Amino acid sequence: MPMSLLQTERLTKSFGGLIAVREVSLEINAGEIIGIIGPNGSGKTTFFNLISGIYTPTSGTIVFEDRIMNRQAPHAFADAGIARTFQTIRLFKEMTVLENVMLGRHCQTRAGVFESVIRTTRQKEEETEIQKKAEELLAFFGDRLYDHCVDLARELSYANQRRLEIARALATDPKLLLLDEPAAGMNPQESAELMSDVFRIRELGITCIVIEHDMSVISGLCDKVIALDHGEKIAEGSYDLVRSDPHVIESYLGSTGTH
Ligand code: ADP
Ligand code: MG
Repeated sequence: MPMSLLQTERLTKSFGGLIAVREVSLEINAGEIIGIIGPNGSGKTTFFNLISGIYTPTSGTIVFEDRIMNRQAPHAFADAGIARTFQTIRLFKEMTVLENVMLGRHCQTRAGVFESVIRTTRQKEEETEIQKKAEELLAFFGDRLYDHCVDLARELSYANQRRLEIARALATDPKLLLLDEPAAGMNPQESAELMSDVFRIRELGITCIVIEHDMSVISGLCDKVIALDHGEKIAEGSYDLVRSDPHVIESYLGSTGTH
């Protein structure tokens, strides 16, 4: 029996008169890799902002592992096990690669970043533990990040900055990872490597939802695809099913279906 991890029920977000996400109901099972596609402005990022607690729903429900999450703050979503990356890279550019991952990890520990002025033995132990875990996460990406541990984040190549964002999200020990256009700006070889990274993340027991315009990434990676248009879910199912849906072709893929 598949275990339901995330459920949304008629989830809606409006900004004034604009309905960015309209009555989206879906269910995501643990262990799945789900793709979200749709034209620009169709509500994909807004959907992520809702299920990571950045926006409060206008109406509808979010259930994560049997908990109703609707009015919770973003840190409660992180604590529950939802982590994300952003469409536009958000790193601490003037901090090192290692520090960026350690900051992701700090959210999980009791001694906060800003309370570390008086360093107790416990805090020092915790710090060593955080660093060890951060180094492990960097090593997850082979030598891509590990070789740049002490470089500043801004010195990394674009693809490596995207990898670092994923490493930082993983530092919170998520159950669900949300990736917003992770292959944007990547060349085909980098996209292929990203796909193998996502498969390895799933092997860690982490469920993934991927927003992506690159259909080779979507078709290669996803167990199930959800298509949005004007904030509404217009199709859901296997890539082949969604790709041949007339509404999806009309609104997004075009008549050739080779987007
Ligand atoms: P996508 O990620 O699919 O390109 P978005 O979710 O970013 O789409 O945007 C969906 C719609 O919601 C767009 O029309 C966008 O302008 C609008 N929108 C998103 N965030 C806000 C906001 N904070 N305030 C007002 N409008 C917003
Ligand atoms: Mg977006």
